[in-house]
Amino acid sequence: MTDVADRATAGFRQEFGGPPAGHWAAPGRVNLIGEHTDYNDGFVLPFALPLRTVAAADRQEGARWTVWSELSGETISFGADEVDEPGRVTGWGAYVAGVVWALRDAGHDVPGARLAIASDVPLGAGLSSSAALEAAVLTALVDLGGLDLPAERQPRLAQRAENRYVGAPTGIMDQSASIRCRDGHALFLDCRSEGVEHIPFDLRAAGLAMLVVDSHAPHRHADGEYAARRKSCEAGAERLGVPALRDVTVDQLDAALARLDDPETRRRVRHVVTEDQRVLDTVALLRAGRVREIGPLLTASHVSMRDDFEITVPEIDTAVETALAAGALGARMTGGGFGGCVLALVEADAADSVAGAVTAAYAERGFRAPGHVTVLPAAGAARLD
Ligand code: ADP
Ligand code: MG
Repeated sequence: MTDVADRATAGFRQEFGGPPAGHWAAPGRVNLIGEHTDYNDGFVLPFALPLRTVAAADRQEGARWTVWSELSGETISFGADEVDEPGRVTGWGAYVAGVVWALRDAGHDVPGARLAIASDVPLGAGLSSSAALEAAVLTALVDLGGLDLPAERQPRLAQRAENRYVGAPTGIMDQSASIRCRDGHALFLDCRSEGVEHIPFDLRAAGLAMLVVDSHAPHRHADGEYAARRKSCEAGAERLGVPALRDVTVDQLDAALARLDDPETRRRVRHVVTEDQRVLDTVALLRAGRVREIGPLLTASHVSMRDDFEITVPEIDTAVETALAAGALGARMTGGGFGGCVLALVEADAADSVAGAVTAAYAERGFRAPGHVTVLPAAGAARLD
């Protein structure tokens, strides 16, 4: 059993006085490529991290859920009345209550349960600790109750929990990745059809690894800027007479840009249209087993986010530039922008030296020291025992 599962078990024993019936683990994720394409009906390509949230769980009598998290050290408890009214359970408990709510709302007979949560996914770093928590709880409840909810229907349900109960307007990517990813694969997700395909992404076999650098940049006005980008994209699509920017191909891009008179809207549209194409190109290379060749696409994605979508910050650009100068095959910011993490595709034996170069560059510029972890694509949510 993994350390994080041991911690969940220890918490369960301490809070509930006995062993759990089982352990359910769900990973955090990063998006390999495809940024701000989701709400434009486009493509994303996340993969699961080997960092997981574990729920040690057992059934309990009645419609009551009692949850401990290592993170806060507190135990919360709620019944059907609180669950059935979105917003009644607040704070981190809302993610758990939200899952119970979404299941009940879909007509499932959710068993009462006791859960102890431990996690290796850092919170709020853009690695989707929220989806990992939802997915760990969801898979635990589905298994404990023998509920009829196949994996392909679970992401939408977890997303509803976050949208409607927690009140966070997130897309379908995070939950899809945490629930459906496969070891050694990335998940190609069409945000219009919500169809997924598992794309081989075997970094280990290629002698490569992914360095994830947490920029530790303070999130500056991220919510307002996100809303502004969405608005620009919608305005661009409307001006071009298409349902979403997904419907503009790179071949049509020049003609489309010529029809837009606002230079800012032109830049935003160019990012989204070229980014969708970069996702498709990355998928094609990975399908052909040409893993190393995706490096330039990652870097091109970064340049597009920096210059056209204007969502990067100095800490992020420094991490990307330094990683590339230190030998990374490609590097880009991942996530919505204005902070968060950078991905650098590196030779497996160069991960430490690239990370060291980024840390040194941060010190030179007086930035707060970055965090980093080297990862390989991991599996989605599963029962551990
Ligand atoms: P991200 O998903 O990028 O990490 P979010 O803001 O979407 O950031 O979600 C973070 C929130 O999810 C936390 O503030 C907390 O409420 C909840 N959360 C995530 N993991 C845990 C955990 N292990 N225990 C308790 N709450 C958690
Ligand atoms: Mg989240």
